[in-house]
Amino acid sequence: MPGFEFFGDEERKEINDVLETGILMRYGFDAPRKGIWKSNELEKAITQTFGCKYAQLTSSGTAALTTAMAALGIGVGDEVIMPAFTFVASFEAVLSVGAIPVLVDVDETLTLNPDAVRKAVNAKSKCIMPVHMCGSMADLDALKAICNEHNLILLEDACQSIGGKYKGKHLGSIGDAGTFSFDFVKMITTAEGGVVMTNNEDVYIKSDGYTDHGHDHRGVDRGADLHPFIGYNFRISELHAAVGLAQIRKLDMFLELQRKNNKILRSYLEQIPEVTFRIVPEGGEDSCSFLSWFLPTEALMKATVAEMKAQGIAAGNFYWYANNWHYIKQWQHLQEATTLNTISAEQKTALHNLATQDFSVSDAVMSRCVSTAISLLWTEEQIKDKGEKMVAVIRKVLAGE
Ligand SMILES: *Cc1c(COP(=O)(O)O)cnc(C)c1O
Repeated sequence: MPGFEFFGDEERKEINDVLETGILMRYGFDAPRKGIWKSNELEKAITQTFGCKYAQLTSSGTAALTTAMAALGIGVGDEVIMPAFTFVASFEAVLSVGAIPVLVDVDETLTLNPDAVRKAVNAKSKCIMPVHMCGSMADLDALKAICNEHNLILLEDACQSIGGKYKGKHLGSIGDAGTFSFDFVKMITTAEGGVVMTNNEDVYIKSDGYTDHGHDHRGVDRGADLHPFIGYNFRISELHAAVGLAQIRKLDMFLELQRKNNKILRSYLEQIPEVTFRIVPEGGEDSCSFLSWFLPTEALMKATVAEMKAQGIAAGNFYWYANNWHYIKQWQHLQEATTLNTISAEQKTALHNLATQDFSVSDAVMSRCVSTAISLLWTEEQIKDKGEKMVAVIRKVLAGE
């Protein structure tokens, strides 16, 4: 997924525009900034590229999730249903607004299983937060139906799926709000940054104020702005937005290369009948940032991962099941509610319950899965070499050698 692989003259030019004036902040300083408004420009480009009405840039994807939750009115006592496979940022954001993360099973889409979501719904449920992991999406029609039935909010954590689509619409533009991350390893990078996307004007206006200490941005100057509510500082800087502007213009090129490289690598793994691939829901278009594949058993996958390590070809192959940052099994700090500050008793109880909750359905999926990150810079020769080596390792393991 990495846009950082194509950092170049275009990014340097946009940054230099900002350095020429020295106005590094996105608000105010109207005269000295000489018409340079990179953050505004990037927000406009985001609405046009991803087909949403409004976009609010933030300092990170985590900040975007926190902002979206606040703007959607999610807070103390509210339960947010989310998957057991995600990046830690998803539950961090839930906890930050005082809400309760309710983790449920994933299936071979590597995202929320709608049946598991349905079972978790209760009177405290406020929001369903699918996380479109590794470029592809949850069954959004099924999740929307549950939201409609129970009057719940749909918030898409699309941080890892920039460019993916569902039934013709961009991921992140479908729920009540959606977020992207522009951190250094995401599809488009601003070094650090994120965005809240929505079609709801109220959610946008609240996001705009929340990310800037509650400023309503309607005063003649910053001192004259009103503060209709309490906010925080989750602002992006002009330097970061400048990088994003150059990157978003390259997105189509990134996606084309990514899909091409993914397809070639997949053609090698497809030679092995025991290898299966992540399921993409009907009507979905994977951004192809990863090739996620399964072996029939945990033992076979563990042996394959070990053999890839032994042969020095494990780089870029993510075995999430054993990774400390992406799957419930390794989140002891969450299960033990290890926080620096005091959290509510309700949050604490919910987190402690995660230690004994049955995630065997997710275990059975994640323990057999590896996601191979797709580089945009690979040559066909390199993909061939990689594909052949991976196939040889898997065949060796399957043969029990
Ligand atoms: C990267 C990521 C985030 C958070 O983004 P940051 O910009 O790193 O804060 C949130 N959710 C998922 C699924 C991510 O991959």
